[in-house]
Parts: sequence; structure tokens; C-alpha cells
Amino acid sequence: MPDETKTERPALPQGDTGTKTVFIKSYGCQMNVYDSQRMADTLAPAGYVETTSPDNADLVILNTCHIREKAAEKVYSEIGRLRVARDERRRMGGDMQIAVAGCVAQAEGEEIMRRAPAVDLVVGPQTYHRLPDLIARVGGTKKPVDTDFPVEDKFQVLPAPRREKILARGPSAFVTVQEGCDKFCTFCVVPYTRGAETSRPVAGIVAEVERLAEAGVREISLLGQNVNAYHGEGPDGRTWTLGKLLHRLARIEPVTRLRYTTSHPRDMDDSLIEAHRDLPALMPFLHLPVQSGSDRILDVMNRKHTSAEYLRLIETIRNARPDMAFSSDFIVGFPGETDADFEATLRLIEDVSYVSAYSFKYSPRPGTPGAGMTDQIDEAVKAERLARLQALTEGQQRAFNQASIGRCMEVLFDRKGKHPGQIAGRSPYLQAVQIEADESLIGTVAPVEITTTGAWSLHGILAGTRPREAVA
Ligand code: SAM
Ligand code: SF4
Repeated sequence: MPDETKTERPALPQGDTGTKTVFIKSYGCQMNVYDSQRMADTLAPAGYVETTSPDNADLVILNTCHIREKAAEKVYSEIGRLRVARDERRRMGGDMQIAVAGCVAQAEGEEIMRRAPAVDLVVGPQTYHRLPDLIARVGGTKKPVDTDFPVEDKFQVLPAPRREKILARGPSAFVTVQEGCDKFCTFCVVPYTRGAETSRPVAGIVAEVERLAEAGVREISLLGQNVNAYHGEGPDGRTWTLGKLLHRLARIEPVTRLRYTTSHPRDMDDSLIEAHRDLPALMPFLHLPVQSGSDRILDVMNRKHTSAEYLRLIETIRNARPDMAFSSDFIVGFPGETDADFEATLRLIEDVSYVSAYSFKYSPRPGTPGAGMTDQIDEAVKAERLARLQALTEGQQRAFNQASIGRCMEVLFDRKGKHPGQIAGRSPYLQAVQIEADESLIGTVAPVEITTTGAWSLHGILAGTRPREAVA
């Protein structure tokens, strides 16, 4: 294996046109999607243009996820493929730099270079604003690895995207408002990879949302590992809650939709529930992960609430906003989970009736308390429980979609549809909706009468355009 730390290379690769191309691949959550966009914004002033394939990229960034073992392992397979492509490129006289960013970068740091020597640089989620400097250092005596939790706030220094770039990303945008987590659920790596809870000040968020709105964005999803623990500095010098922030953002026109994710049940405070009651722009859909319906497992997971408290919370939110729909995350096969614990989870799912759900087999993560627990569950049992749970949640999702037939829903159209002449968008409940209509509607919200459902999407017609029945 060549000692790559000593390879001499030109500082920054140049394409034929003088611009350089970057391909960024995001793994995992929406926060990574947002971070990838901001990495592209950071690299734009250094001459990098985004490309949609690694094949012609001067720089490939893998923005990684460490939440489950499979997610982390995918990265190493991808690096293997990229190494082959890069070696081929070098044989043809070109080159490609490979960077690893995100939570695997944060968790494994220098270890990545040892395991995958093809990697040129490693950058954590808190320091990607330093990417241009790090890239310039590639080819030096030591490969750059930056996984600091720096004193400077990256949001203060990240360059704003250009208007054309915002438009190209579509009418729905993510804005990270909170990072890190102090909850320390015993299965989860986030408090280790993303650090302690921090919240962005209100002024920076308002400025970012105003810029997005001015460029044509109509839906803003506020993001945070534990977004409803938001406690940012307000312009009045006081600490603002997420509820108060949402009230402020709802005044920015013409943003018509607000969402936020992901929330912890313990942090659903009164101001947030009131925001659901009072703000029409706040969509009646909430992802509120519960993980398990067993109080014993919730306790060992350190979730700090019971299933009854969760159900009461759902009821309180539904009282504030009766058309509210819920989704959740579930983990099956957490250490010590018995058949009775699992049945309690199925009962909770029946009680709530979710409109969508994400469910996972427990994956022991190094360094978390769960990984050291002795009563790990057999993989076959986990697989069997996951299949039963998913059959239940998928049935609930189908029933919700079926019940949408005949309803008129506001849809934000954000892309072309699967077939020519179709456009697609999202209902208030995040259901995918397809209609036959002109592309000029993309970027707008319009009422749609739902006529049929497919496997995972709804089909409809623009309200008021149903052809009159032929008169004999
Ligand atoms: N903050 C959110 C919460 O409180 O539920 C969750 C954020 S986490 C990034 C996303 C989801 O990944 C979790 O809700 C959980 O269901 C799943 N997850 C986290 N660690 C896991 C693990 N070790 N094994 C399986 N699933 C895991
Ligand atoms: Fe992980 Fe969410 Fe628990 Fe924080 S609250 S430790 S992000 S699962």
C-alpha cells in the first residue's frame, strides 16, 4: 500500500474550463442534506461547481451517517469504489480528491485514513466551513483531519447561497436551527458525534429564511437533532423557544408552510403546542419518535417518559389541532426486549395510528451504553419483530392514504412527476401527490382533489377542474 500521506499533488485540481467540480453524497438524515448544501455554498467562492455524478468530479465529499452500523459501513464500500475510479483517472493524467465529512468523520477521525488510505481529508460537522483551507492543505506532509468543536460559529461565517442556487434546490428548504443533543438515549451516538445542544440565534435564522423566501422558497423545515429543545438568543436578548421562533417565522411572507423535525416528546412545551393551535402555516404533521411502547424499555433507553405520558401528549396536541397527523421512529430488539415489551409497542402503535413511520433493528453503536448491555437480542428475533411492526405501520399508512380519497388538500408542487405531463408535490401530511398539470405550477401551492392512491403516493386533479359528466 503506498504511503499516501507523502504523495505530492497540485493544491487544487483544475478542470478544462478553469472551474472545478464537486460531487457531494449525503447519507442519513435531513441535517446532512442541509450540511451538504452548505458545503457546496462554502466551496462556490473557491470555484467549485456541483456535479451530479462522481465520475467527472475533481472532489468527492461523502457526508456520512454513523447512526447504525450499516450506515457507517456503506461509506467504506463507497470509498473502495471511488479509489478504483480515482486510480483510473490518474492513469489518464487526471485526479480526484476524496473527502469524508459528517458523523463517521467526527466519530472515527484519523482512523478513517488508516482504514481507507485513499481518503485525502476528513472534516467533522462543526468545521465544514473550513473546507477551502483544508482542501488547499491536501498534498502536504500530513493529510488534513479537522473534527474540532470550534469556538467560532460556522453559521456566522458560511457564505449565503446565490439566488439561482436556491431556486435550483426547489421551493422547499431545510434550515438547521439547533444542533447536538444532551439527552443521551442509551442506544444513540448523536450526543457523541454532534456534541452538546446548541441553538442558533433568532436573527441569523430570520435572515436566512427571508433570503430563501425572497428567492421563491415556500416551505421551510426547521432542523435539529432535538429541534424542539431549541433555546436560541432572541433579538430582545431573551431566550426564545421553538414556539416563539415559529411565530416570528410565520410573519415572513410569502412562506406558506412551516415544519420542524426531529422532536423529543419531553420537549413539546406549551408554546409549541400553542403554535400548532394558532399558526395555519405550521403544517398539521408531526414526527414525534417514541422508539418503544414498553415503559421498562423506555426507561432502559433513558427516554425519560412513559408510554402513557406520550399518549397524553398526543391527545393534548390533537386537542390543540384536531387535524394533526403523527409519525414516529421505532427501534425493535433493544437489549432485553421481551415479547411482552414488543407487544406493548404494537399496542401503542394501534392507539396512536400513525400516518407514516421509520423502524429499525437495534444496532449496537460503539461507545454507547446499549452496546455494553449483556442481554442483546438475536438478529432473527429482531428481523421477525421488525417485519410485524412494519406490516402494522404500513397498513396504517395505506388506510390514511385511502381515507384521503375525495378530500381536497393543499399541495406544494416541487418537481416534475414520474410521467410526461405530470407534476408532483407534497400534501400537508407529507404524502407524495401526483397530478396532470402544467410545469408552471411547480413552486406554488394549489388545492387538489384526491382521486386515487398508488402504493406510496396519491393521485388527484386540480380542484375545480373535474370534467363535467357527459349529458346524454
Ligand atoms: N432525536 C430523535 C429522537 O429523539 O428520537 C432521533 C434522532 S436519530 C438521528 C434517528 C432515529 O434513528 C432514532 O429515532 C432511532 O429510532 C434511530 N436510531 C438511533 N440509534 C439507533 C441504533 N443504535 N439502532 C437503531 N436505530 C437507531
Ligand atoms: Fe439520540 Fe434523539 Fe436520544 Fe438525542 S434525543 S440521544 S438525538 S435519540
